[in-house]
Amino acid sequence: MEQRGILYDGKAKRICLTDDEDKVIIRYKDDATAFNNVKKAVLANKGVLNNRISAIIFRYLRNAGVENHYISTLDDRSQLCRRVDIIPLEVIVRNIIAGSMARRLGIEEGTEPSNVIYDICYKADELGDPLINDHHAVALGIVTYDELHNIYGITAKINGLLKSLFAEAGIRLVDFKVEFGRTEDGRIILADEVSPDTCRLWDMKTNEKLDKDRFRRDLGHVIEAYEEVYRRLANIEDARGL
Ligand code: UDP
Repeated sequence: MEQRGILYDGKAKRICLTDDEDKVIIRYKDDATAFNNVKKAVLANKGVLNNRISAIIFRYLRNAGVENHYISTLDDRSQLCRRVDIIPLEVIVRNIIAGSMARRLGIEEGTEPSNVIYDICYKADELGDPLINDHHAVALGIVTYDELHNIYGITAKINGLLKSLFAEAGIRLVDFKVEFGRTEDGRIILADEVSPDTCRLWDMKTNEKLDKDRFRRDLGHVIEAYEEVYRRLANIEDARGL
């Protein structure tokens, strides 16, 4: 697979074209950003860990019937993925209240709601990725109601699968964000990444945070936490012989 020009250079990943127009190479960087790019740092080895963690999760989801863009791992920082048109929506799932929802609604972080909560945000850096609702998304021409219905269905399935994978790893899946893309033939599949940058992960025994909140909140030991997540997930994948 030969690498061609850069398709998109993002905050945490770079997407490169290849000599096959249906495939891209995604390279995970060590750069960390938070609060819409206000807080920045380079965390040595984060890209390597997120590349590995995302790959394990995409392989696990694919084996469980959730189609996604991951094809194979190329090296420590890169994976070969299907090229998709990213739908400019961040789909957020909340099993436990934390982060922006806790702040916005004055709910104590760690509160367990009676139902799973889904938020959608419009991916637009210049607007700060605002929270929107289904009607906004349709009016903006991002998706149809049918596509949204499909996206929520896939997202619910992903939530069930990830909750049980992380539970096996002794980790509570507090919340996470996913993104979807359209394939050439118009199907909607999971894309982007799933990693401690995009999930809140709390150790089930100690409640210790094992995710990007360690960076956002200056809790220290960020990379050690990502390494711990990787170690536990890799053990599960090895044990299953996948
Ligand atoms: N999230 C993300 N990218 C974003 C915004 C949120 O990956 O641009 C993830 C975040 O890591 C958390 C979940 O989505 O796991 C919910 O985030 P929240 O809305 O609480 O925002 P935050 O307070 O983290 O900015």
